[in-house]
Amino acid sequence: MLDIKWIRQHQEEVQSAADQKKIKVSVTELFEWDDRRRQLLQEIDALRQQRNRLSGEIAALMREKDSRAIEQTRQQAKEIHTALDRLQEAYQEAEAQCRERILLIPNIVSPDTPAGSSDEDNVMVKRVGEPPQFEFESKDHIALGRLHQMIDITRGVKTAGTRSYYLTGSGVLLHRAVQQLAVDLLLARGFRLLEVPLMVRTTAMMNTGFFPLGEEQTYRIEGEDQWLAGTSEVPLVAYYSNEVIDVAEPIRLAAVSVCFRSEAGSAGRDVHGLYRVHQFAKVEQVILCEASLETSEKMFEEITGHAEELLQLLELPYRVMAVCAGDMSQKTYKQQDIETWMPSRGAYGETHSSSQLLDFQARRSNIRYRDAEGRLVYCYTLNNTAVASPRILIPLLENHQKEDGSIRIPQALRPYMNGQELLRPLV
Ligand code: AMP
Repeated sequence: MLDIKWIRQHQEEVQSAADQKKIKVSVTELFEWDDRRRQLLQEIDALRQQRNRLSGEIAALMREKDSRAIEQTRQQAKEIHTALDRLQEAYQEAEAQCRERILLIPNIVSPDTPAGSSDEDNVMVKRVGEPPQFEFESKDHIALGRLHQMIDITRGVKTAGTRSYYLTGSGVLLHRAVQQLAVDLLLARGFRLLEVPLMVRTTAMMNTGFFPLGEEQTYRIEGEDQWLAGTSEVPLVAYYSNEVIDVAEPIRLAAVSVCFRSEAGSAGRDVHGLYRVHQFAKVEQVILCEASLETSEKMFEEITGHAEELLQLLELPYRVMAVCAGDMSQKTYKQQDIETWMPSRGAYGETHSSSQLLDFQARRSNIRYRDAEGRLVYCYTLNNTAVASPRILIPLLENHQKEDGSIRIPQALRPYMNGQELLRPLV
């Protein structure tokens, strides 16, 4: 939970971030409830003291056997009890109102974040590589998947419903190859690889800033206090919750995980093919570092750079976009998305998302370190996709296709594809 003192210090910024991120929360209302909560606490303390004093008085009167005075004092004590019950009830209500609001308070937004309300307001930072010019009628990933017998949506839907798929044969090999390429790249850059729990507690979702606003997006395990994580960012950050850690050197964590998303609110969007599905695999990068904007910015460039490196290894054209305030989530301070060219869309499509969160997650998760003066300080966190598949298979298949439907395997991927240079159609 965010510190109310911190929110008071950043009052205007916080309200402006909430408005830009379209989160319905009033900072003023939060403070009113917080003031009421404090006031009630003082009244409760004063009454408790009175009650304790009266208990002492009753004990003394009993020694004196003054039954009339005992009765009078007992009556006073009873009234105090009733008043305390009432105040405690009011306090709990004020506390609940505060908590409800405080959990909605968003992170502030970086000064260089573009203003705007939707992805149309995102600003291009750079563009790398050129979309291919096909001199033949190019095919989309579904048609290519059929030719190579590597994607089977029909049977996916038969088994698991909409937004489901099977990968088969070389489709599975490609899916695994891109993930292993990403893992090897991160290991070479000093990341520590973790196998993480994918069923996580509500506190982990709440403390990493995915709840309360992302509940709809998340599958719940019925009857348990557990949810299917939509990204390994959750267990990676929660790994250090309630700990004091050493961030003299930034901590670089990576995980490969299956991600589950209900995609509530996406009805009718991206229904074609592998773009938006309920279950996919992601290699994720998470950084925990000292609470310094300079270090955070450096780490941001580093993890965004890794995603770019991977796309260059896959020989795919992409662009980096500065995400506008209205398109960022509650927890994000600054975000850049990488979009890769997808010929069937005739457009770039998001494949990576790199974020700085300052101490938003660390405060909620209580992850601290000791600074040079020995004070306990909340650390900063960041995260970025290294690769997400099968979405990345869309540009991979579509950009590298040849006229006869065969697919060129980029050089860097060949060692992970049994040395194959070209996949030839099977049908
Ligand atoms: P996020 O964790 O939401 O920042 O997403 C990171 C990356 O995961 C996106 O850029 C996509 O490549 C991929 N991704 C997110 N949601 C889906 C989905 N529903 N289906 C397929 N890939 C997804």
